[in-house]
Amino acid sequence: MIAERLEAITRGLPEGVRLVAVSKFHPVEAIREAYLAGQRVFGESKVQEMDAKHALLPEDIVWHFIGHLQTNKVKYIVPYVRLIHSVDSYKLLLEVERQAAKVPRVVDCLLQLHVAREETKFGFTPDELREMLAKGAWRELKHARVVGLMGMASNTDDTEQIRREFRLLHDLFGEVKARWFATDDAFKELSMGMSHDYPEALAAGSTMIRVGSKIFGERVY
Ligand SMILES: *Cc1c(COP(=O)(O)O)cnc(C)c1O
Repeated sequence: MIAERLEAITRGLPEGVRLVAVSKFHPVEAIREAYLAGQRVFGESKVQEMDAKHALLPEDIVWHFIGHLQTNKVKYIVPYVRLIHSVDSYKLLLEVERQAAKVPRVVDCLLQLHVAREETKFGFTPDELREMLAKGAWRELKHARVVGLMGMASNTDDTEQIRREFRLLHDLFGEVKARWFATDDAFKELSMGMSHDYPEALAAGSTMIRVGSKIFGERVY
């Protein structure tokens, strides 16, 4: 079942686009099943849950953190996390730098943008992001490497609204790339699209989709 769903999603992906299988709230058995079907990149949104799964599962799994991250928990995941999608403040980026320097290793990070209507979502507004990047202090960081942007569209049935928000994220990505990362080949990821809206995200130029329920079924919280 999981294998068929994975295959149905990956079959339709444009060249170069990667699937993050969002396994939050699902047991390690479900991840094993996806792993046996060839999936290697998994996304989790809680530090304790990712730590516990990381300890139990094969070493070659690539762990992405996608949830809201508190600064005091950064230290637990930096030894192994490959990409943090949800860096929503400069303070958090600095803490990733500080903890990753101790290991030492380089941890890739995406800056999370807030473009959706819901107030509950985290992330920089476009102006906050520009302001932070314009200050330039992030250029000194050696262990927290900014490789792109992440965003979520509003949770709505209004497909036009979703398309507008993904296009906005795409345009912001282009602007940020041109203004601050034009000569940095590592800055190339635009993480957007979930189970219900990833086709729209792909149409708007997503390079990484984060899909959970469409692979593993509905979550039981
Ligand atoms: C849970 C979650 C997803 C996956 O959501 P589905 O609707 O199950 O595909 C993607 N991105 C983030 C940030 C999430 O928290």
